[in-house]
Amino acid sequence: MANANLAERIELLVNQKETEVINIRRDIHMHPEVSGKEERTSGIVAEYLEKQGIEVQRCQNSYGVIGRLMGGKPGPIIALRADMDALPIQEKTGLPYASKVDGQMHACGHDIHTAVLMGTAAVLSTIKDTLNGTVIFLFQPSEEFFPGGALGLIEEGGIDNPKPDAIFALHTGPIPVGKIAISPGPVIGSVSTLSLRIFGRGGHFAAPHMAVDPILVSSNVVVALSSMVSRRVNPMEDAVLTFGMIEGGTRDNIIGDMVVLRGNIGSLNESLCVKLMEDLEKTVKGITEGMGATYKLKYIHGYPTVRNDPHQAVYVRDVASRVIGESNVIPCTPSLGGEDMSYFLQKIPGALFFLGVHDPESDQPPISLHDPAFAPDERAITVGMRLMSRLVTDAAD
Ligand SMILES: [Zn+2]
Ligand SMILES: [Zn+2]
Repeated sequence: MANANLAERIELLVNQKETEVINIRRDIHMHPEVSGKEERTSGIVAEYLEKQGIEVQRCQNSYGVIGRLMGGKPGPIIALRADMDALPIQEKTGLPYASKVDGQMHACGHDIHTAVLMGTAAVLSTIKDTLNGTVIFLFQPSEEFFPGGALGLIEEGGIDNPKPDAIFALHTGPIPVGKIAISPGPVIGSVSTLSLRIFGRGGHFAAPHMAVDPILVSSNVVVALSSMVSRRVNPMEDAVLTFGMIEGGTRDNIIGDMVVLRGNIGSLNESLCVKLMEDLEKTVKGITEGMGATYKLKYIHGYPTVRNDPHQAVYVRDVASRVIGESNVIPCTPSLGGEDMSYFLQKIPGALFFLGVHDPESDQPPISLHDPAFAPDERAITVGMRLMSRLVTDAAD
């Protein structure tokens, strides 16, 4: 456990920096940048870290920023990671600090992640002389867009010199402010994305026997595939298949000649995603052939599953219990969403936890990530800073 003085000092510094960090978050929120375009955000991060006396490496091939803070005494090397990108979503929160960029929004809380890690860097650099070990701050671009920004940071030495003993990240979650959720093992699933084109033969609406209607073929495909998860997956395993987009036809009295479907398969088990894609293709082949149509299927197996190291997950739970109280640390419900923190966790033991951002006094249910009305409660920012700081200081004990 961090000595009582250090723990007290962290509490004091976090409180002192609260307003500044909330303002940083609001500024980033007003100026969202989608995956791969985080020029302004990464510039703000790099300058802020430099101002704190932290050694900064700007990535050559991306907008990634790596900060290294050497403590006054030897000790463990801890990496903390935040993602910085926004989404192509039109914000509908009505907040005074809503996005100023049309069609772009921080709807996944990455503005919170970035601000929390900047605030943590400010806290830890202030107590640098009493700090044991080294802290590596990884600000990564492009989490939302495969192949993601994590691999770029890894390629540019983010976890090489020095190599961290552990790595931690947080993600905003639909749980009350003041609480976090952490579990060992798989917490965020792997995602495979598919694009399916079904080709028929066009014709007159009143002469369907002379055409091959791709809308009817697609409807059969969607219905057949919708039972795939319930009938081909062991009920004790998890998987989801959703078509998020279907497009075909030009007007009411024409049978079109092509339909495009796009969707995702998610599972905590990567090999299940691969198997489901194979099964899916067999079904598509059978239905299209049987109905006289043809198809083209393209897919990408995306991020691997985020797997928390069992020991590091217990460590996060213990630190959090000390900082926010045991009753505020809950197990997490795994999500099948996909997160490229998985690449770091394949190389360094660590854990990702969910930071509660739902206002417990609100009579509304929690708003989902990627919702245009997503408006995290900013009281979560100091909770995140306290936890991230203590994950570093307590590791030295
Ligand atoms: Zn997201
Ligand atoms: Zn996210």
